[in-house]
Amino acid sequence: MILPFPYGLAAALGIFIVFPLLLRKRAMSRMGGYGDSGGGGGFFGSGSGGSTKVKYVCLVCNNKHGGGACPRCGSKMQRADF
Ligand SMILES: [Zn+2]
Repeated sequence: MILPFPYGLAAALGIFIVFPLLLRKRAMSRMGGYGDSGGGGGFFGSGSGGSTKVKYVCLVCNNKHGGGACPRCGSKMQRADF
C-alpha cells in the first residue's frame, strides 16, 4: 500500500531527519553526554601528562599562579600559560 502524497513525504522526511538525529543522540550519550561544541568531551587533557590544570602568568609582576588574582601583587591581569 502506498501512502497519499503529503503523508508519504512526511514519512520520508521523518525517516531521513529523525533517524540520523536519533543516531547522533545515541552516539553522543555514549561519549558522555557532551554537546556538539565540546568536540568529544573527555579526550582533552588525557594525553598531556595527567595534569589538566592551567597555569596563569601575571602580566604585572610575571608571577606564575593558579588563576584568579595574583597572590603577589593582587592584579587580575593574567594570561594562560600552557
Ligand atoms: Zn602579580
